[in-house]
Amino acid sequence: MIKTDIIIIGAGPVGLFTVFEAGLLKLRCHLIDSLPQAGGQCSEIYPKKPIYDIPGFPSILAGELIDNLMDQAAPFKPGFTLGEAAVSIDKNDEDQFVVTTSKGTQHEAPIVMIAGGLGVFEPRKPPIDGLENFEDKGVEYIIKDPEFYQGKRCVISGGGDSALDWAIFLADKKIAKEVSLVHRRSSFRGHLDSVQKVMDLADEGRINLITEAEVIGIGGNGKVENVVIKHDTQGEFVKETDHFIPLFGLKPSLGPIANWGLEIDKNAIVVDTLDYSTNIPGIYAIGDVNTYTNKLKLILCGFHEGTLAVQSAFARIHPDKKNVLKYTTVNGVTGF
Ligand SMILES: Cc1cc2nc3c(=O)[nH]c(=O)nc-3n(C[C@H](O)[C@H](O)[C@H](O)COP(=O)(O)OP(=O)(O)OC[C@H]3O[C@@H](n4cnc5c(N)ncnc54)[C@H](O)[C@@H]3O)c2cc1C
Repeated sequence: MIKTDIIIIGAGPVGLFTVFEAGLLKLRCHLIDSLPQAGGQCSEIYPKKPIYDIPGFPSILAGELIDNLMDQAAPFKPGFTLGEAAVSIDKNDEDQFVVTTSKGTQHEAPIVMIAGGLGVFEPRKPPIDGLENFEDKGVEYIIKDPEFYQGKRCVISGGGDSALDWAIFLADKKIAKEVSLVHRRSSFRGHLDSVQKVMDLADEGRINLITEAEVIGIGGNGKVENVVIKHDTQGEFVKETDHFIPLFGLKPSLGPIANWGLEIDKNAIVVDTLDYSTNIPGIYAIGDVNTYTNKLKLILCGFHEGTLAVQSAFARIHPDKKNVLKYTTVNGVTGF
């Protein structure tokens, strides 16, 4: 049994920063994540993308932000249970929460913070026969490291920001040898700037833009060698490629969290914005996983939520102690 002050379910940016804020209040944290590494969406979906709206960082790669958050949390020696999903939450005889993972690891604490983000990551997959057979053999649903596509031929499909951004990145930086972007319609859902950039790159012959078409088949011997594209008016044709990257977004699925008796609205946990507490006393929900009026799924909002939630957690754990806010400039950071 792993014992701590706060069990944090989800080691994304919000969970990690909450370790730091809890540490300032002398509260210890243990994080659980179903992924094998910390960092949530930043590490799993877009580690090499620059983020421009982290206060104080005009631009920072998502992966670097996670490295920094890990460094910032390090003095408070957080524990990690990685590669295991939190599947159940119960109360024991001492009125403590017990969180059990998919591998049976048990964690005990008076407070649970759910920082589960989008929940379990599930990419939306196009309905193509045999697609699963090519996963990690040329079919990727997420671009983790663009350098992986150096000198390769890539067919990207999708009409949202992810498809547009990556097509631009791989073509503009001359990483991939050939980039084709296939989309069902002639108009795109992404930002206007990105749409314009794709059009410009297509005019320059650096993106092969195939609209009003979709990928309907895939072929190859042990790895992707081609895709079959069906065009609305020109019929079907085979396109040779090394990679097929369908970027249709992620299906939000709370996974096991949905069955813990928490108030849920549209796949997110309803919280009180006073302290981001849920309907179960002692359980908080912070970051992308929660919902309230005017909620914004932004990293900086999650940082604020975690900061307020640990203040409330402190009051629950130490009802007799008064917590006075102290600036880090005055007190510094004294780890455990
Ligand atoms: C392509 C892209 C670009 C983005 N750009 C920006 C941007 O520029 N600025 C910005 O502010 N935001 C941006 N975002 C959004 C930002 O990434 C999220 O707001 C942020 O990741 C939320 O952090 P989080 O810690 O709440 O959740 P997440 O990062 O989603 O992490 C949650 C973690 O919880 C884990 N988890 C879930 N359920 C369980 C369970 N039952 N057991 C164990 N672990 C579990 C997951 O595996 C995951 O690792 C972007 C998102 C994407 C996809």
